[in-house]
Amino acid sequence: MSWDSFEYDLSAKCACGNGIVIRHILQRDDDWNRSETRCLGEEIHCADCAKKYHIEHLIRHYFCMPWDGDGISDRAFLVPNGIHIPKYKEKRIFSFSRIDEQIAADVPLKDIKASINDMQTNKYTTRLELGSSREIVLLYQRRYKKKSLKMIIPVLETIIQNYDKYEWTPETITEYRITEEKELSKNNKEIAEAISKSFELDFRRN
Ligand SMILES: [Zn+2]
Repeated sequence: MSWDSFEYDLSAKCACGNGIVIRHILQRDDDWNRSETRCLGEEIHCADCAKKYHIEHLIRHYFCMPWDGDGISDRAFLVPNGIHIPKYKEKRIFSFSRIDEQIAADVPLKDIKASINDMQTNKYTTRLELGSSREIVLLYQRRYKKKSLKMIIPVLETIIQNYDKYEWTPETITEYRITEEKELSKNNKEIAEAISKSFELDFRRN
């Protein structure tokens, strides 16, 4: 396999309109028509704007399928000196390494207790009556590719015995989300304010 690599420039109008900002790109193509690009640097080619502004990027990760892109949005701005665009804060994704942590986080305590009862009474996963029981079975199945109530009930009993030790339960997660919501909204406002004083660069190929 061999790579062809070459460099080219993109340019964008500067804030005052009398000059440009240049972005140097390195592109590599392989034999199968795959290509990747890398930014080698950006320069303000305008004496006035170079005095007043510096370049900053606002990077945001979002969910997308691999064939639709890399899931990164990268916007470049001329930002007045003395101002910074805060980093974009991401919403926390909870993930748990242990099944008991996962169940304790997803299912309220009273439902865990009711599910034990349901599982002991009905004995088969196909006969479970409660939605929470089926949810727990599904969580277990996703992780271990099996759904044996004999294995699941002891996990639930462990959770109940040690309930105080779990940092994340539906209640603590709800509290966390309320605080997080405020922080994210503050973060969004601060970003919007910094952007409103900045000039977004629209890079195009020459
Ligand atoms: Zn300018």
